[in-house]
This record gives sequence, C-alpha cells and structure tokens, in this order.
Amino acid sequence: MLIISYDALGDIEFETLMSFPAFSKLANKSAVFHDVPSLFVSNTYPVHASVATGLKPSEHGIISNTESFPVTNPVWNSNEALIKAKTLWQAASEKNLKTAAVFWPVTAFSKTIRYNVPEVLARPGKSQLMTSLKAGNSLLQLKLFLLYRKHLDGVRQPNLDNFATACMTHILREYIPDLAFIHLTAYDFLRHEHGRSNNGLSKQAIEAAFHALDKNLNALLNAAGDDRDIILFSDHSQINVDMIIDPNEELKTRGLLSVENAGYLPGEHGCFFECCGGSAFFHKGTLDSGSVESLYSYIENSTGFRRFLNANELLESGYTHATFGFCAKAGYCYGKPKSKEKSNHGYPLDMPDYSVFYLLKGRGIESGMNKNGSLLDIAPFAAKRLGLNLF
Ligand SMILES: [Zn+2]
Repeated sequence: MLIISYDALGDIEFETLMSFPAFSKLANKSAVFHDVPSLFVSNTYPVHASVATGLKPSEHGIISNTESFPVTNPVWNSNEALIKAKTLWQAASEKNLKTAAVFWPVTAFSKTIRYNVPEVLARPGKSQLMTSLKAGNSLLQLKLFLLYRKHLDGVRQPNLDNFATACMTHILREYIPDLAFIHLTAYDFLRHEHGRSNNGLSKQAIEAAFHALDKNLNALLNAAGDDRDIILFSDHSQINVDMIIDPNEELKTRGLLSVENAGYLPGEHGCFFECCGGSAFFHKGTLDSGSVESLYSYIENSTGFRRFLNANELLESGYTHATFGFCAKAGYCYGKPKSKEKSNHGYPLDMPDYSVFYLLKGRGIESGMNKNGSLLDIAPFAAKRLGLNLF
C-alpha cells in the first residue's frame, strides 16, 4: 500500500487536478470521496497524525504543527514519540510488515519505520542534512541524498517534492515495502507564498506546482505498480489572506508580554495567544478574570475577528486547556505580521470552499463518487486491507 498526501489541495482544486493525466487516471479507477471536512485545527501535523492513527487530534495528542508559545522559531512537533496512539506503521511492524516514509510528518526518530526519510526542520544555525540524518535512517538517507541531490535547491519547491518522489520511487523499487507514506508539499508552499491569485507570476507558480504534482504522482504510481493499494488524500484547503494579525501585540501593549531578540517572552502571568493561522487560542496563565474579560472583549471587536470557537471545536481539536479560542474571517489569519503569507489554513470547518477529498484504489474497491467520507476512515481502511490491529 502507498499513501500519498497532497498537502493543501482542497476539494475546490479537484476539477483542475482532473485535467492532469496521472491524477485523472488514478481518480477514474478509485473510490473518490468529495466534500470531506478536514479535521480541526485544520493544520498539517494534526491532520497527518489523524490519518496515521484514525483518531482526532484530541485523542492522538498532536494538536498543533509546533510548540505552543509564540517564540520566533518554534520547535516543530516532528518526533514520533509525541503521538500518543498506535500508528499504522507501528501496527504494521507488529505484523512484521516492512514500512517506509518520506517527509511524512511526525515520524522523526521512529522506532518502527524501516526506511525513514522524516520531515524535520533544522534549528537556526544547524545543518539540515545532519538534522535529517540523525532523525531517520542515516545510511539510507545519505545514499538517497547522494543519488538524488541534483533535484534539490535548498528547500525550494517543487524541487523538494521531486527529491521526495525520487527517494520514494527508489525505496518502492529497491526495498518493496508493504506500507509506504509520502508527503508532497509543493502546492502548500506555493499557495502560502502566492495565494490563489490569477495573474502574473503567481499563476505560473501555482501551475508549476500542479504540473510537478502530476509528474511526481505518475512516477510514484509507476514505481508502485498496478497491484498495490493506493490512498491519496488532501489534509486541508487554504483561504486567501490579505492581513496577518498578531493578538500578542495587544498583550505587549498591556505589559503582559515582552520582546527579546524579536521573539516574545512570557510576562509574570505566563499568558499568551497561540496563533494557528485561521484560528488562535488564548492561554491565561495566572491572569485575573477581569483582565481575561477585557481581552475577550478586545478580541471580539478586533479587526479580522469572525467568531469565538465553540466547546465542541475546542474539544475535538484538543484545545480544552485554552481559556478561549477564536477564528478569523476570510482574508485574515493569526500569526506573525511580518510573515508573507498570501493564504493560510487552520480555520474551523464551516469556512466556505474549505473541504478536502481522498481517493482509495485497490482490488475489489468500486470506483466512483462518494459523499460522507471522513479523513478518520483512512487509517481503519488501511488497517483492514493490511490485516493490522490498529486500535
Ligand atoms: Zn498541510
């Protein structure tokens, strides 16, 4: 089985994807699930951990891409040990099946993935190559790096996807894993950078991402062969952004946060806003209730505010420890104002044009369109096909 993640391709991009040969060929042979809600908070790491476990973020524990305090360079939640549930690759290793992963989130230092090229980001000043080598199979990664580094241009896209694809096709042909995972991020990178603009360079860049995705999909499907089960899914869509709001600036104004080396330091009460793109969460620390109420009312009247998150959203996302959560209107997101986001995700699931899709292809699976799918159904489906005990 090969599980392919098309990062940030929403259901609204499905028609465009169908105009590309490899995707349309796969989709025509697959059970296609349309208009599928992402999982809140609709960010990459929580959703990928859900696809790997069949559980909600509140249950597997990966509720955010990064650590929560808004430091300048937050640590990404890359370490496999952070997932507090059994993953498909762990269940596969119990059955002595061979597993492989390339740039799949939250797989660093995996004890069970046999061929692992994890997605890890080097800390500032550290070598990316050394960071990656330590977090996955060193010898395999070194071999793949030497063979395929010609595809790389730093972390630029779609070069990085081309490298990931070259690594995975090599692994599929050379080691014939029973279960393999690959995460392709060209579209996510370019959407963050360009938004969904229809003119000039942006349009060219987005089209280049579509072409790269399809070329890489074609290579992956050829290497996987006709007999392998294929699952392809998207983790979240994206919403165009014109303005990035950082509510921590208000805390700074109120003397509740300070700034050091262009990053925040908690004040005496330890309160802060955790910005997750389309949503943000307030952690009150030891702040008194009057000040919390005042901040609640400030947020309610702030630019870009859409609504407060409800109890169910806090529960499902795993943010029950937050004092309150809220979300932005289309055109706005929460984060660092100096970042150059042109679109983002992390919004609640009732945003228009925000759903995702997935495809299941394999012997005995009826092709055609389906509704009422859930990203949480992917892991149990994969477990059943492979004869694994996931739960
Ligand atoms: Zn993503």
